[in-house]
Amino acid sequence: MAIKHGELVLVGLRELDKVVSDGTVWRQAGDLSYLSFPSLEGDDLFHAFFSRRGGVSREPFASLNLGLHVGDGAEEVLTNRRLALDVAGAPLPSLVAGQQVHGTRIHRVTRAEAGRGGRSAADAIPETDGLVTDVPGLVLASFAADCAVIVALDRRRRVIGLAHAGWRGTLGGIAAKLVEGMRDLGAEPDQIEAVINPSLGPCCMEVGGEVIKEAETKLPGLVADPAEGVFWRKLRRSGGHQGEGSKYLFNLWAVNQAILEGAGLSPVRIRVAGLCTYCGDSSLLYSYRREGGRCGRHGVLLRLA
Ligand SMILES: [Zn+2]
Repeated sequence: MAIKHGELVLVGLRELDKVVSDGTVWRQAGDLSYLSFPSLEGDDLFHAFFSRRGGVSREPFASLNLGLHVGDGAEEVLTNRRLALDVAGAPLPSLVAGQQVHGTRIHRVTRAEAGRGGRSAADAIPETDGLVTDVPGLVLASFAADCAVIVALDRRRRVIGLAHAGWRGTLGGIAAKLVEGMRDLGAEPDQIEAVINPSLGPCCMEVGGEVIKEAETKLPGLVADPAEGVFWRKLRRSGGHQGEGSKYLFNLWAVNQAILEGAGLSPVRIRVAGLCTYCGDSSLLYSYRREGGRCGRHGVLLRLA
């Protein structure tokens, strides 16, 4: 299987509203810019992956840091969240976030939970990396700076969901659990559109041999032929044999894509931004690894109209 992503050419800020790949577009809203997938756009849905530009946070969080738990000032983060929510056409009390723990739990969000995790991380949905809902007006949110955020929609059944997927959540199968959570709300897997937002790419996601061992154990069907090199590739400089010290490049995008297909999604309904946070434009993208663990978080917002 091939990795489906467009050739991405970043353009200057003034030109951000132009299409930059075959699957995504950067939109400009005031000083903010966000990545959008035209395949998901419509009057019935708002979705966005916000770049780091246009916010009020200072270095090392500059500037549109939307994560509350990274050492940035709460006041700055709440101002940034309001700026992003203005673009989404929703107030802060409509935002719902999970306490992302690199787990695989999916939570069905009800209207009564509006605002959980919006002003404070303390009341976010506990130990939850994925959210699903069919309630219009709620803004599902996920925050990341290298981990993938998968966004999904069944337009006909009006069910949405998102999941935060680093390698741990990915190998735990959070993408399949997201589909399961949406199915419980009436979504049909073969009707679900899913996208994988900018995150560590196969160019830069270095992992140790223990991650590959875990992948082989947890996803045996997926990795029948690891030699194919689609899901991971051994780094040449790590020596000639597969030992404890070996390093690999892991393809988070292709693995999640394969898991989504395994959960019943049509390959043509899965899109990958194809933009790596690590080697992409650092004035546009945070990268936890590139910035040594001290940086802001991109916000991914998703709302049914
Ligand atoms: Zn890269």
